Amino acid sequence: MAPRLLLNKTPDEANTWERQGALAFRYRYPFMPSGLINRLIVRLSGMLKEDQLGNDLIWRDGAILQQNGCTALVVQDKTEKGLQVIDISVQGKEFERKDLLVHIRRTLTGIHRDSFEGLDFEELVPCCCEACAGLPEPTFFEMTKLQRYIKGKRTDITCDNENSVQEVSIVQLLEGVVDSRAKDEMRIGDRQMEERQIFAAGKIDRIEDKLDELLEQAKHTERNVTNIYGPVGAMTETGDVNQSEVQTEKKNGKKPFLKKTSIIISIAAGLLAILTGTGIWQFFFKSEKAEQEPQTVKQQVVPDSTVSQVGQKAAEQDTTSPKTAGKPQ
Ligand SMILES: [Zn+2]
Repeated sequence: MAPRLLLNKTPDEANTWERQGALAFRYRYPFMPSGLINRLIVRLSGMLKEDQLGNDLIWRDGAILQQNGCTALVVQDKTEKGLQVIDISVQGKEFERKDLLVHIRRTLTGIHRDSFEGLDFEELVPCCCEACAGLPEPTFFEMTKLQRYIKGKRTDITCDNENSVQEVSIVQLLEGVVDSRAKDEMRIGDRQMEERQIFAAGKIDRIEDKLDELLEQAKHTERNVTNIYGPVGAMTETGDVNQSEVQTEKKNGKKPFLKKTSIIISIAAGLLAILTGTGIWQFFFKSEKAEQEPQTVKQQVVPDSTVSQVGQKAAEQDTTSPKTAGKPQ
């Protein structure tokens, strides 16, 4: 690295950095080895941003980087409690800034591995609740704790800051910073939660798969709406389809569950009403017609076969749908 001029003091760009709304991540060290931030900046030196005079924006404790129209502030700092941290804050478009954060995190992980084997550190995600949004020092959640919550099938975690106490969606917290392994775990967790919701809603075996099919359609509609947020830029290199599914869950936090439950109940009620209604109508129609025109009864049996077709289709799906296998008995 050969910066034309290493700034002696923190530049204005760093002092006036807008943290609100930026994508943030923190590394906390019980003991931060000297030279850690410098090694990080050296490895990222190809991305250094320049000030108006053409000087690289690099100083003793940090640097400002840029990539694909996004800028990132990477700085070594001490919290109010005196804890040593490396703070990363990225501004820019949704997808690109996640990319940049992922790149910086990968680089730092590489330095931990290559130069400081066994180094003790904690990765932290800032809270995204409304109360934290206005604070200079929001609540930070430990990644290890969030992972533990996910494994325990928890969907929310409590933010207890100076202004309020509230539940925050873990999926929402991890958006943009989560790696593919954690995301898979989340997806499994979400799926199980979803199944429990369906079960609790009094799912009827015969139309179970029909409901799932309709649920998928509802999800697809939701996904189209949430697409305005742009794709997920997580630490996975495979652009698998499930990303958008996970994204939908994340974006909406716990709301989709409520929405889905109401959709499921509505659909179940609707289908039941149709099935029951058809039977009643058929009963009356048959009786009435039987009295008036006994010879036309056979023609009116059509709804009966429609019902049995629906039943048959549901039964077919029962045996063919791979979803059925994973369901709790
Ligand atoms: Zn909060």
